[in-house]
Amino acid sequence: MLCIISRRAQFSASHRYWLPELSEAENIQKFGACSRFPGYGHNYVLFVSLVGELDEYGMILNLSNVKHVINRKVTSILDFSYLNDVWLEFQQTLPTPENIARVIWQRLKPDLPLVRIQLFEHPELWADYLGNGMEAYLTLSTYFSAAHKLAHPRLSGEENFKIYGKCANPNGHGHNYHLEVTVKGEIDPRTGMIVDLGALNQAIKEYVIELFDHSFLNKDVPYFAEVVPTAENIALCISQLLRSPIQELGATLYKVKLMETPNNSCEIYCTESDSNSVNAAQNQPVLVRL
Ligand SMILES: [Zn+2]
Repeated sequence: MLCIISRRAQFSASHRYWLPELSEAENIQKFGACSRFPGYGHNYVLFVSLVGELDEYGMILNLSNVKHVINRKVTSILDFSYLNDVWLEFQQTLPTPENIARVIWQRLKPDLPLVRIQLFEHPELWADYLGNGMEAYLTLSTYFSAAHKLAHPRLSGEENFKIYGKCANPNGHGHNYHLEVTVKGEIDPRTGMIVDLGALNQAIKEYVIELFDHSFLNKDVPYFAEVVPTAENIALCISQLLRSPIQELGATLYKVKLMETPNNSCEIYCTESDSNSVNAAQNQPVLVRL
């Protein structure tokens, strides 16, 4: 039976987004504060996922060996390093999280049956690399607070209560929503970026957070005039709001994950077959109850 296991590792390192072929003004324009001398650091958290058949000892690999390989080939070298100088790959392509994940894959692949490298630059920003050329995924997480009422405007109070229970209470209730937006794209061979992070942050702020934060969704967001703002429909709405702006930034919206409470989250995968329809029912979001 095939099984996937993941091993966590950490390293602290600094980096700087700076291209020597550009002038100082051009570097500042392109990378903002990230271009500042002498760079800045992160406590990176790495998850190495491996696939294999279970052996007679109930393992796919001896985790102790996996730990040693990761340490020898990656963390012992990157820990307390200045990434731009440590590996030649980072001189060719800047050490963004998506590019670091790609290069770690290349370094570990000869020794381990990898299926995924996931690298957190900090808890709100991480990259996933699955071994497909220059393709990578970048996830930004953020949050907003909003109130809602789960009640269809065309149903009576009694009917809504039957369907949604106390979530249909007439005066509504609120949540601190936790949002994760994952984009997919090609790593630029020089800047190491699949998308301009500042611009992506700005798009999420402008198209989602400003509209949703501290709102009563049913009344303040026109989309929910006729659509019940369940977590699934909110995630679907967010995916529709972000699809074009992210396309304009040169990447593709891959996934929207919305956590309504620690016990309740949903994920929308924004595949080609999705339409821009406001009819949530056709898109069949996946609801995950943790
Ligand atoms: Zn609720």
